Amino acid sequence: MTEQAARRPATQVTAVLRSAGLRVTPQRQLVVEVLQGAGARHLTAEDVYREVSERYPGFNRSTVYRVLDLLTSSGVVSQHRLGGSVAHFELTGAGVHHHLICVDCQHVFDLDGAELRELGRRVQRRTGFAVGQVAVTIEGRCAACRSGASG
Ligand SMILES: [Zn+2]
Ligand SMILES: [Zn+2]
Repeated sequence: MTEQAARRPATQVTAVLRSAGLRVTPQRQLVVEVLQGAGARHLTAEDVYREVSERYPGFNRSTVYRVLDLLTSSGVVSQHRLGGSVAHFELTGAGVHHHLICVDCQHVFDLDGAELRELGRRVQRRTGFAVGQVAVTIEGRCAACRSGASG
């Protein structure tokens, strides 16, 4: 089950920023690095702020929010509102994929787009509806929560 979460390849942080037409600043680099380091995990702005300030204690919270806004509007980062009102952020390079949301710990995991491709084909066969992009959100309990960390 955990192996189904997609792992995105590491990308050069500066190249990511430059290809979006952005100037490379230490703040932007750091935020992209944190999102890359999160792997298939999706972070809220607060998660990003927490990780950034662990490395650089002087880092301003409003700077993190401003950088996330900029990265989102320039397409480097995708913002999802999944299973609640809190926005989650991930690097856009991940491609088409689905989301698994843990109802206990609220973590969001990516699921490879290929997992549900057959579903799109089946819907098309049965309904004649030409299926375009399939983006699915699945709620449940993650492996860590199921292993009884809560007791
Ligand atoms: Zn969980
Ligand atoms: Zn995702």
